[in-house]
Amino acid sequence: MEGFFELIEILVGDFVNFLVRFCGIATISFFCYNIIIMENIERYKHLNKYLKEKFGERTLKICIDGGFTCPNRNGSKGIGGCIFCSEKGSGEHIKSVEFETNNLIYDNKLGLTPCNSITQSTSSISEQVKRYFDSYKAQRANKFIAYFQNFTNTYDTIENLKLKYDSALIDDRIVGLEVATRPDCITEDIAKLLKSYTSKYYVCVELGLQTSNEKTGKFINRCYTNDDFSKAVTILNKYGIDIVTHIMIGLPTEDGKNIETFSDIKNTVDFLNRHNIQGLKIHSCYIVKNTKLEKLYNDGKYAPITLEQYIEQCAFVIAHISPDIVIHRVSGDAPKDLLVAPSWNSHKKWIINGLDKYFRENDLWQGKYYKLY
Ligand code: SF4
Repeated sequence: MEGFFELIEILVGDFVNFLVRFCGIATISFFCYNIIIMENIERYKHLNKYLKEKFGERTLKICIDGGFTCPNRNGSKGIGGCIFCSEKGSGEHIKSVEFETNNLIYDNKLGLTPCNSITQSTSSISEQVKRYFDSYKAQRANKFIAYFQNFTNTYDTIENLKLKYDSALIDDRIVGLEVATRPDCITEDIAKLLKSYTSKYYVCVELGLQTSNEKTGKFINRCYTNDDFSKAVTILNKYGIDIVTHIMIGLPTEDGKNIETFSDIKNTVDFLNRHNIQGLKIHSCYIVKNTKLEKLYNDGKYAPITLEQYIEQCAFVIAHISPDIVIHRVSGDAPKDLLVAPSWNSHKKWIINGLDKYFRENDLWQGKYYKLY
C-alpha cells in the first residue's frame, strides 16, 4: 500500500513538474512572442497604430464606390487606363451589389465605364454606407473613415463632388473622409472643398504616383507627370490636407521586359522624401484579369517579381523613406478570382511576416538610411 501511495506521489509530482515546466515554457514563449511582435511594430509606423493614436480607438475604413470614372479612361487624358488598372478602377473588393445602381456600360475603347446620374450616384453612396453599418463589419469599431476608393474621386464638378461626399457622411460614427485620386485631378477649388470638411472630419487625399521614373510612367500609361504630382502636393499642403501616396514595386520598365531596379526605386523614394506627404501605400505590381498587363504577361513580355524580391525591395523603400511617414499598407489585395499572378500576392500574412523577418534579420527600421537629396 505504501508503495502504491509513493507511486501516486511520484506521478502527481511529475505531473505538477510537467505543468510548471510547460507553463514556464509557455509563459516564456508568450513573452518572447510579444517581444518579437512588439519589436516588429516598432520597426515602421503602422497605420492601425497611427489611427488608434489619432482617434483614441480602433478606426476602420468604409470602402465606397462613388460612381466616378477616370480621365485616363474616358479619353480626356488617355484611353483604357493604366496598364494594371482593373475594370473596377482598382476597387475590386467593393462588393458588386454596390454597383447595382451604377449603370456601368461597356465601351470597346474605354472598358467598363460608369454612366450613372448624380442622383443615382448619391443614393448608391448613401446605400453603401447604410449597408456597411447594417453589416457585422460595423460591429468591429466605433469610428470610421468614408473612403472613396476606386477610379478618380475628384473627377467631377465641385457641386457634384460635394453632393457625393455629403451623401457618404451620414452617420455620426464617421470621423474622416479619404479620397483617392490622380495628381492631375487636384485643383485649388477641389482643395478648398476638401478643406471645408476639416472642421468636422479628418480629411486625407490618396494620390497615385506608382513611380517617379517618367519612362516607366509612360510605359504603364499613367498619363500624368511627376510635375503634376508636385503641383498637387503643393496645393494640398497649402490647405493643410494630409496626403497618402501610392507606389508600386515590380513595375515593367519602358521596354516591358525588365522590372524597375533598386536604382529606379531609390529615385522614387528620394522624390517622395522631397515632398511633404504624410502616408505611403506600397504594393507589388500584380496582374488582374482583363488588363493590358495581363496581355503583356500572357505574351511573355512581363513577369512579376518573386515574393523574396518584393520583400527585399519593400524593405529598401521603408528603410530609405522619412521616418515621419505613416505606412498605410505593404501588400495589395486583389481578389483571388481576379488575380492572374503572382499567386503569393493573395497571401497577405506571407508578405507581412516575411517583411518583419527581413527587418529583424537585417536590423532595418523605417528611415534607417533616410537622407534628403
Ligand atoms: S489613374 Fe487610377 S483609376 Fe485611372 S486608370 Fe490609372 S489606376 Fe485606373
